Amino acid sequence: MTTMHNKYKALLIDLDGTMYHGDSPIKGASQLITYLQEHKWLYRFVTNNSSATSEQVADRLNAMGIFAKAEHICTSAQATAHYITEQHSPNPPKVFMIGEHGLRTALVDAGIEITDENPDYVVQGIDKSFNYEKATKAITLIRAGATSIMTNPDLLLPANGGLIPGAGSIGAMLQASSGKQPIVIGKPSSILVQFALSQLGVEAHEALVVGDNMSTDIAAGVNSGCGTVLLYTGLTNANNKSYYTEQAGCDAEYIFETIQDFQQFLTNE
Ligand SMILES: [Mg+2]
Repeated sequence: MTTMHNKYKALLIDLDGTMYHGDSPIKGASQLITYLQEHKWLYRFVTNNSSATSEQVADRLNAMGIFAKAEHICTSAQATAHYITEQHSPNPPKVFMIGEHGLRTALVDAGIEITDENPDYVVQGIDKSFNYEKATKAITLIRAGATSIMTNPDLLLPANGGLIPGAGSIGAMLQASSGKQPIVIGKPSSILVQFALSQLGVEAHEALVVGDNMSTDIAAGVNSGCGTVLLYTGLTNANNKSYYTEQAGCDAEYIFETIQDFQQFLTNE
């Protein structure tokens, strides 16, 4: 019998809008993860969020009843640390950072020195205490030759029932002021996806990227050569799908209304 498991070995699963909304798990999320565990699917939760550590993300999932260990999480912060370490090999890079605890932890854990003296990179993620002084320092260093890196391009984030500026909005300011385009790590860039694939030891064509957002999740899958699964569990639904498809400039391979429908597809195909 041909099943999806013959064609694909691994799933790269988005979190916000795919596994949960705020502090509420999406129906079927916990059952899907249990199913993947039982049927020996390889998977990673792949998140553009750089503010939380993988341990904190796992704790959050577990608190919602979705089983996760820190090793199941790939954050844009970890992918950033991995990417600049490889780029700068064999010497560890020096970094000026604008970001929060998750980004700092990922950089320090990778043996990267955080400094404002002659850094090789300016690494920028979301920073809720971002200010003019940090912006000035960052653009001065970028203009002096440091490579500009942005953990993720999200312009807006859901928070407390509204929206707040995301890492991409800070990045837009730095780009405008410095005149330098940053290297983007998070989805839709393939760098975060490549990091997750390398952790799992699978090729792009063996993995499905699963998410609710055409412009980030599905575009990242397409850009990386993975299969793509769009779920109508978050941002995208049948009514706005064509609008978001046009915005993303690419389309999803498979589309499901619910997580249960997707799990059924993995089971039956
Ligand atoms: Mg999402």
